[in-house]
Amino acid sequence: MSDGRPRVVIVGGGFGGLAAVKSLRRAPVDVTVIDRLNHHCFQPLLYQVATAALSPADVAWPIRHILRDQENATVLMAEVRGIDAAQRRVQIDAMSIPYDHLVLATGATHSYFGHDEWADAAPGLKRIEDATRIRRRILLGFERAELTTDAAERRRLLTFVIVGGGATGVEMAGAISEIARQTLARDFRHIDPTTARIVLIEASARIMPTLPEHLSDYVRRTLVKKGVEVMTSTRVMACDARGVDLAHGRLDAGTIIWAAGVVASPAARWLGVEPDRAGRVKVGADLSVPGRADIFVIGDTAAVVDQPNIPGTAPAAKQMGAYVGRLIAARVAGEPSPPPFRYHHLGDLATVGRHAAVVKLGRLELTGFLGWLFWSVVHIYFLIGVRDRFSVAFTWLWDYMTFQRGARLITEVPPAETR
Ligand SMILES: Cc1cc2nc3c(=O)[nH]c(=O)nc-3n(C[C@H](O)[C@H](O)[C@H](O)COP(=O)(O)OP(=O)(O)OC[C@H]3O[C@@H](n4cnc5c(N)ncnc54)[C@H](O)[C@@H]3O)c2cc1C
Repeated sequence: MSDGRPRVVIVGGGFGGLAAVKSLRRAPVDVTVIDRLNHHCFQPLLYQVATAALSPADVAWPIRHILRDQENATVLMAEVRGIDAAQRRVQIDAMSIPYDHLVLATGATHSYFGHDEWADAAPGLKRIEDATRIRRRILLGFERAELTTDAAERRRLLTFVIVGGGATGVEMAGAISEIARQTLARDFRHIDPTTARIVLIEASARIMPTLPEHLSDYVRRTLVKKGVEVMTSTRVMACDARGVDLAHGRLDAGTIIWAAGVVASPAARWLGVEPDRAGRVKVGADLSVPGRADIFVIGDTAAVVDQPNIPGTAPAAKQMGAYVGRLIAARVAGEPSPPPFRYHHLGDLATVGRHAAVVKLGRLELTGFLGWLFWSVVHIYFLIGVRDRFSVAFTWLWDYMTFQRGARLITEVPPAETR
């Protein structure tokens, strides 16, 4: 206890961590939020930064600004390196922070299925830096194709491969096709950007496999109409700086984007517990670690043992965060704990590009322009501030009318990328 008030430490200021801290706002506790970054990132719109439609500041906000009015919350920017569960301390760089209740909400990152050496050639999309790196590579692909006089090299530079046909891969493929066929169509003199080859590769038999078959079929048809080649039942065997090896041959490419798999943060290692196959910590019905009633794990880094089908999404992380906050508040007040956590699936949304999205909310299904409108309103609603909502709505309206993507900046090219 500090000054008699229980200390709650929340590691991670993502969707789960923020929901937990907010649900503790009226509780008589001192909350410390620790994140290695100074900002919360709205990951569902990251692909728009990667494809030059939005700027980083449209989708990320300083965590201390978000929590500025919550007086019982302190924000620390630090990388957590381990947990001393016996001493109840969280180890950060040069010191450790004591806790009475600990919430781990450290999310997930991309998984290369044991081939981390592919990461440089095929970056994944998780953080703002990833998005600006991918944006730079896409735009550099066109710039370098304009410079080269070698036809085969030009073809390679104008080939964009996206590995993974889930929502992120589909969104990236649709957006890159729009960049090539609309935004940049008239900007070059030696190349025709509209001839760019955009290939979406998926190992399973259909893209967006979590959607019902007719909706995933709609997504495929829409992508094909936009000029995207969709390869299903196709496994990537290797990636390097000049392309990908597929089971049936080589595909040369200038830009490769990895959207194929995720693995949880190392929270299981910190706790010394056996993770599940995706690296997640197995938690009980109240989201605590078995045998450790004072440690909760939520969001993408948690596997709720009695509900194996909870998806790795923002609503799931938020619901878990809000639940754990309520549970800790009840414990501190000496009240009965809330009933076990139950995930409520709100629906599935994904956009395939301008005027095309799929929405499935229970029995309601929307596609095409109506789906896109619904998707836009939902995403604008969940942005954090009024200024961001206005700015994003205005940018989308402008892009919609002009086909432009205003954030087409190539910033600092690191030596490794001066190919
Ligand atoms: C490109 C992309 C698109 C997505 N699109 C959608 C979508 O359209 N709809 C949807 O519902 N979901 C989407 N998701 C999934 C959704 O973003 C995640 O499910 C959600 O963010 C999980 O929340 P979380 O709190 O568990 O983790 P996160 O939101 O990832 O937060 C984890 C936080 O922990 C911090 N952290 C990690 N390790 C440490 C450490 N060692 N020390 C200190 N801090 C640390 C990180 O900096 C981060 O701030 C998308 C994800 C990605 C990557």
